[in-house]
Amino acid sequence: MTHIVIVGNGMAGSRLAADLRAGAGSSSRGASDRLRVTVLGAERGPAYNRVLLWDVLAGRLDPADTVLAGSHDRGGTRVTALDVAAHSVQTSCGDQLEYDVLVLATGSRPIIPDLPGVRDATGRLRPGVHTFGSLVDCVALRQEARAARHALVVGGGLAGVHAARGLAALGLPVTLVHTGSHLLPRHLDPAGGRVLRRILTRLGVTIRTGTRVRALTPDQVTATDPDTASDSGLTVVRPAAPVTGAVLDDGEQITADLVVLACGSRPEVTLARAAGLAIGAGGGVLVDTTLQTSAPDVYAIGDCAEFLFTGAVLRTASPSDAAAARSEGSAAPAIAGIRYEQAAPAWDQARVLAARLTGLDPDARYHGSPRLVRLRGDLDVAALGEPTGHLVDADPTAGDAKSHVLALTDATRDAYRKFVIRDDRLVSAVFVGDVATLPDAVRAHADGIPLPSDRRYLMEVMS
Ligand SMILES: Cc1cc2nc3c(=O)[nH]c(=O)nc-3n(C[C@H](O)[C@H](O)[C@H](O)COP(=O)(O)OP(=O)(O)OC[C@H]3O[C@@H](n4cnc5c(N)ncnc54)[C@H](O)[C@@H]3O)c2cc1C
Repeated sequence: MTHIVIVGNGMAGSRLAADLRAGAGSSSRGASDRLRVTVLGAERGPAYNRVLLWDVLAGRLDPADTVLAGSHDRGGTRVTALDVAAHSVQTSCGDQLEYDVLVLATGSRPIIPDLPGVRDATGRLRPGVHTFGSLVDCVALRQEARAARHALVVGGGLAGVHAARGLAALGLPVTLVHTGSHLLPRHLDPAGGRVLRRILTRLGVTIRTGTRVRALTPDQVTATDPDTASDSGLTVVRPAAPVTGAVLDDGEQITADLVVLACGSRPEVTLARAAGLAIGAGGGVLVDTTLQTSAPDVYAIGDCAEFLFTGAVLRTASPSDAAAARSEGSAAPAIAGIRYEQAAPAWDQARVLAARLTGLDPDARYHGSPRLVRLRGDLDVAALGEPTGHLVDADPTAGDAKSHVLALTDATRDAYRKFVIRDDRLVSAVFVGDVATLPDAVRAHADGIPLPSDRRYLMEVMS
């Protein structure tokens, strides 16, 4: 019997567990008798679709509507240590579990900016300040939004845009502050970002780009009570005052009694790092095309993983790596892989790993996923293909010699479309405000068939 332990019951871990069970059940080789699967998840409750969090915030969905099919309640068990030599993990319940195969599916965690006024004296987020990465965050935000008068969202990436539209849908005035020059900078070019800005403004979001939050106000929240401390020998912390707003770099003051920090996320690799596993330059656990990490019998999928598609062989982790990682002594330059940070690739990786582990396809390999980011509902946005393609501005003369950029802005409807074509193939496309022809673009991108040389034809087909 092979014991497979999955750490993390999020979108990747729960899908892997479901695929393992389905694969084992359908395997003619009796895999269901050979495999035992244990899922250890730190979040309480069944696994849910994180992409739908904004719908819950906006009141369009109930938390129960986001539960992933086939997922079970396995919550509340955090893995606190991994010993790759002993093939065992320790849990927050005090248990030690042995594994034959371990899969890290620990996802990522929101970055908390080191700004004055963000935390209270105990290091926790001060009252009124939230992150937006989990269902717990989302429910707390929704609860507080009922009594709030003005919300501030810090960050204009996916989570920031999701949070802003969700809060605006509740009728709350929202200001979004973003350091970059345009929204969704990893997915849209400046022209697409401008159209998205107009749409969000129409939905009730005031947007400030090209500036940063200098501090949340009031920014003195770390005072302790010196009298009580000297009397009792204990340090007593005064409750921090609730947030009242923010000061921007340019001196502008924003009033807000609810603040959402959406400043990006980092791969959650605490366990992997302490166990001495190879970590990539992007901060994820390095895996090869078999999804194996640098440790024997340890795999990684989802947001915590960083992929090497180059055929590079990962060096096996040793106890000395773990010691070096713990003492921060290892200064070897990290190898850079690819991180997806999206739901669909996490599910593709789960499928490949399940095929290998159940024996349905022991030679299955992960060679990457098509990139497609899609926002639905009142924001119709899609970005398909190479992110570098999206970043080429709508200027038709932009791009390299072999690339052509076709872009169309329809100011009357706040709609924008852009196609980047290289060697007669569609390498990327951006849609804002109108995604009617997205399926055609997805097909053209996936098939990789040469496009007609008359680009006006393409514009007509895609319009
Ligand atoms: C607000 C928001 C909006 C998003 N919008 C989109 C979108 O529109 N499109 C898109 O494609 N993607 C989107 N994403 C990203 C997408 O949700 C992630 O790519 C996806 O969830 C990755 O799945 P995962 O299983 O790797 O990580 P997660 O779903 O984050 O799951 C990781 C799980 O591991 C658990 N865990 C961590 N450490 C431990 C431990 N030591 N022991 C036990 N459990 C542990 C965590 O508690 C968590 O439950 C969004 C994410 C957020 C937060």
